[in-house]
Amino acid sequence: MTGEEMHALVERLYPLCRSITGDGVRATLDVVGELLELAVHEVPTGTRVLDWTIPQEWNIRDAYVKDPAGRRVVDFERSNLHVVGYSVPVSATMTLEELRPRLHTLPGQPGLVPYRTSYYAETWGFCLSQDTLDGMGEGPYEVVIDSTLSDGHLTYAEHVVPGRTDDEVLISCHVCHPSLANDNLAGIAVATALAAGLARGPRPRHTYRFLFAPGTIGAITWLARNRERAGRVRHGLTLACAGDRGGLTYKRSRRGDAPIDRVMAHVLRERPHTIVDFSPYGYDERQFCSPGFDLPVGSLTRTPYAGYPEYHTSGDDLDFVSPRAMADTLDALRSAVEVLEQDGRYENLSPYGEPQLGRRGLYGSLGGRSDTKQAQMAMLWVLNLSDGEHSLLDVAGRSGLPFRAVAEASAALEAAGLLKRVGEGG
Ligand code: ZN
Repeated sequence: MTGEEMHALVERLYPLCRSITGDGVRATLDVVGELLELAVHEVPTGTRVLDWTIPQEWNIRDAYVKDPAGRRVVDFERSNLHVVGYSVPVSATMTLEELRPRLHTLPGQPGLVPYRTSYYAETWGFCLSQDTLDGMGEGPYEVVIDSTLSDGHLTYAEHVVPGRTDDEVLISCHVCHPSLANDNLAGIAVATALAAGLARGPRPRHTYRFLFAPGTIGAITWLARNRERAGRVRHGLTLACAGDRGGLTYKRSRRGDAPIDRVMAHVLRERPHTIVDFSPYGYDERQFCSPGFDLPVGSLTRTPYAGYPEYHTSGDDLDFVSPRAMADTLDALRSAVEVLEQDGRYENLSPYGEPQLGRRGLYGSLGGRSDTKQAQMAMLWVLNLSDGEHSLLDVAGRSGLPFRAVAEASAALEAAGLLKRVGEGG
């Protein structure tokens, strides 16, 4: 998928009213399901998941605040951000003073509508711009939220690209935010594009599991239902804020020195980026890296969690995410997959002195290539460091050569009988 195609997917998903449960999540997964084969899971309200319980399912049809002239001053039809997520139903007539405690604004960003939810405390409310609130008279107002909060299900989905081994790579993104483009839709679009690309290529070494689940409770639900499988996760990333114009940010796993941490540091070396240490905050890396699981899962974003003024506001809209930025995030992920797939530890089968490369056609095969010098250096580095201990990623790191050059050199040396794979990378 191109950046434009990913942006078109974001555009299609943008109007849907997602939450941690409900039909907005299902509709979102239906759209993703047109592009990927999804296993959709429905977990009933009341199910215990680790220390949590699946809440009631929330659905909403309409909501508004209507002024005495009959105009919808606040209108869910125009933006689903206008209703506090998980609001219980309301039908009342209220003055502005009565209504005011239910109205949420951003006085410091008077033109923007905030995003607010109240999943675990029963309440209701509206979100609007400070500018709109400042223009409101005393009323009375007709106040309606046509929602239901009742026993139902929590919905999440998985897409699996089977590999040659059971070692898994987990790519997870949250699907619980309504009309916010960077903070969840860009991640969904990039994950979808990565999965679609993997499915078209040759069968990978790792099994790739893509998880589309509501934040926190969805990841906790997956972990509760996949305790065994979690042990197979060799590498993982939570993917969010994947489409803003800032540089890429990688947050290390709790372990801090997991292979994925070193892979991402290597992949980002070539582009503007920031790397930060793990902290138990942010997206679902909090759950995957909880001490009982301690999975090797890092977090990839562009501008990080809560790191931009448009975060959790109506400013995180379709213009805030760009096709180019999403294409760049996808490219970084593809590079990471390339390293994960090709990394390994090798043993030099002719370690006493340098083997004679020319006799084996290994110099000749490079003739005329503009990167001959680099390819030659890569062979010498691979031969020298392949003692069974160093991985190809180690070779790339120590030599300063691109991983791809190192991997190509190892393939050529292996084909010439000079190198043997002896183990996984990492
Ligand atoms: Zn968020």
